[in-house]
Amino acid sequence: MIVKTKAIPFKLIGLEALVRRLLKSHPRYTEMEKNVRITRAGVRGEKLLSSVFEKYHFHGEHYIFHDLNLQSSGLFQIDALFVSTRGAVLLEMKNIAGDIYFPEERNQLVRTLDNGQVDMFECPSVQLERNKMLLEDWFHERNLSIPVYGAVVFPRPQQIFENTRNNLKILFPLEIPVYLRKIEENPPSLDAIALQTVVHELSSAHREYNPFPLCHTYKIHPNALQTGVYCENCDSYGMIPIHKGWGCKRCGAIDREAHRQALLDYFMLVAPCMKNKDVRRFLHVESYDKVRRLLTSMSIPFSGERRGRKYCAGLEEIERLWIDGRVGHSS
Ligand SMILES: [Zn+2]
Repeated sequence: MIVKTKAIPFKLIGLEALVRRLLKSHPRYTEMEKNVRITRAGVRGEKLLSSVFEKYHFHGEHYIFHDLNLQSSGLFQIDALFVSTRGAVLLEMKNIAGDIYFPEERNQLVRTLDNGQVDMFECPSVQLERNKMLLEDWFHERNLSIPVYGAVVFPRPQQIFENTRNNLKILFPLEIPVYLRKIEENPPSLDAIALQTVVHELSSAHREYNPFPLCHTYKIHPNALQTGVYCENCDSYGMIPIHKGWGCKRCGAIDREAHRQALLDYFMLVAPCMKNKDVRRFLHVESYDKVRRLLTSMSIPFSGERRGRKYCAGLEEIERLWIDGRVGHSS
C-alpha cells in the first residue's frame, strides 16, 4: 500500500523559474542552470522509483512512503521507504550517468562520461548511512524497535561500476523487488499493531519541505531577476496589461492568464508575501486597481487593509497556484 505518493517537485519548478528570470550575465547563472539539470535528473530517477512500486505487487502487509521528510537529531529526506513487520528499508535514488568508480582512499564517487568528462560526487554511502542512522534515532525516540536496511538505486541497468564498497548495497530498479523479498524472509520484528503505530507515526511526522523563496535559499539578490510578465510565445518579459489580459510588445501574442506565472514566480523566488506595490513593480503595471483585481481573482489569502494589505502564500498556496496555472493553460 502506498501511504505517501511522490510530492510535486517544488524545487525543480522553482529552479526552472529562477533560471528563466535570472539575468544571463549573473555570475551564478551557469551554476543555477547546472542545478536545474541535476534536480531534473533526480526527479526523473524518483519517478522511476515510484513506477517500480506501482508496477510490482508485493506480498504481505507493507507500506510505502515516497519523499518523506523527518527530523530526529537532524533533518533528513528519504526518497522511498518500505515498511513491513520485517523492518524499514530506505531506498535512495542516484541518477548519475556514466561509468562509476569508487576510490578507496576517499568517500567519493567518480564518474566518467562517454566524452571523457570526469566528475566527482559525494559517495552515496555517506548519505545512506547518515539517513539510516537518523531514522534509527527517530524510531528510538519513539521507543520503536525496528531494523533499518538501506540501498542506493541507480536507474541505468547497463551502467558499469568499479570497486564498489562492501558497506554499500547498489540496486538497479528491477532488482528492488528481489531485494525486498529477501528481507521479507527474515523473521518478523514487529507485530501488526506495532506496524500500524510505525506507519501512523511516520505519516504524521512528515513535513513537506519548503525550499522557497529561492533567492533567499541560494543567496541571490532579487535585483538580479528580470521583472515583468513572461511571454511564452517569444521568450521575453515584454507583456503589458491590455483590456482583458496581457499583450506582448515584442511579438503581439495575447495571454489572458500570463500574470499567474509572474505572481507564482514572485512567491517562489522573491518573498512569501507581497503588497500591491510589490506586484506593480514586479509585473510592470501602474494601476493599483488592476493589481487588486488580479490578486482578488486568484483568491490569494491576505491580511491588513488598503495599502497595508499583504498577500501571502505558503507551500500549499503555491501548490494551488501552480495547479491552477497548469489547468488554466491546458484549457
Ligand atoms: Zn511575445
